[in-house]
Amino acid sequence: MIEIKDLHKSYTMGKSTLHVLKGINFSVAEGEMVAIMGSSGSGKSTLLNILGMLDVANEGTYNLDGKIIKDLDETKAAVYRNKFLGFVFQSFNLISYKTALENVMLPLYYQKIARKERQKSAQKYLEHVGLGPWATHQPNELSGGQKQRVAIARALVSEPKVLLADEPTGALDTKTSYELMDLLQKINDAGKTLLIVTHELDIANMCKRIVHLRDGIIVENKKVDQVKASQYVE
Ligand code: ADP
Ligand code: MG
Repeated sequence: MIEIKDLHKSYTMGKSTLHVLKGINFSVAEGEMVAIMGSSGSGKSTLLNILGMLDVANEGTYNLDGKIIKDLDETKAAVYRNKFLGFVFQSFNLISYKTALENVMLPLYYQKIARKERQKSAQKYLEHVGLGPWATHQPNELSGGQKQRVAIARALVSEPKVLLADEPTGALDTKTSYELMDLLQKINDAGKTLLIVTHELDIANMCKRIVHLRDGIIVENKKVDQVKASQYVE
């Protein structure tokens, strides 16, 4: 599904260059649930953004579902992004003046899907994340956990092959975090490939494999006995 080889990324600011990713190799198979762990500044978001085609590497290869991702123009990149990748961010990134349903409908608008169809799919995914009755509410009427569920529904509505989440529980309290991880585990159990960036070990242990980044290098890559979040959820 995902294979990266010898990936490097630097940022140049004026005269100084910051070497953030220093030769990353790893792969993700279909159906996996992988945590990318590491302390702040270790390069987790940089790596996830490259995997999500929001940024490009300076060196190395990235193979996504059999396709080498390189030198794509923005139109082509957008097509691949829509088809393969769904994104969830720590800060939800919902549009504040749109309802939950409209937020979830939005990715389908860019795919030129008819309004009725968009509504139907969005409602289905809102129900999928347990928010059917909240469809007409705006983000400011929702709790943090509910907002992140809307963001997950929005990421899933275009039926991507991989869901990428950058600190999805970073803005949530522990109980709400575990409820969200329970949802993500159920999505993975249903077959979706998940990559989750976190700096919290309890969250990482709820995945099936942990890739540990330190200063732009993978220092550990190990399978774990997945802790089921459902045991913490009422
Ligand atoms: P993490 O997500 O693990 O906290 P990041 O990937 O966000 O780490 O950042 C890794 C390093 O790269 C940090 O030192 C950060 O300041 C730097 N960095 C990230 N994005 C940029 C950018 N667009 N321009 C310059 N430096 C950046
Ligand atoms: Mg980050």
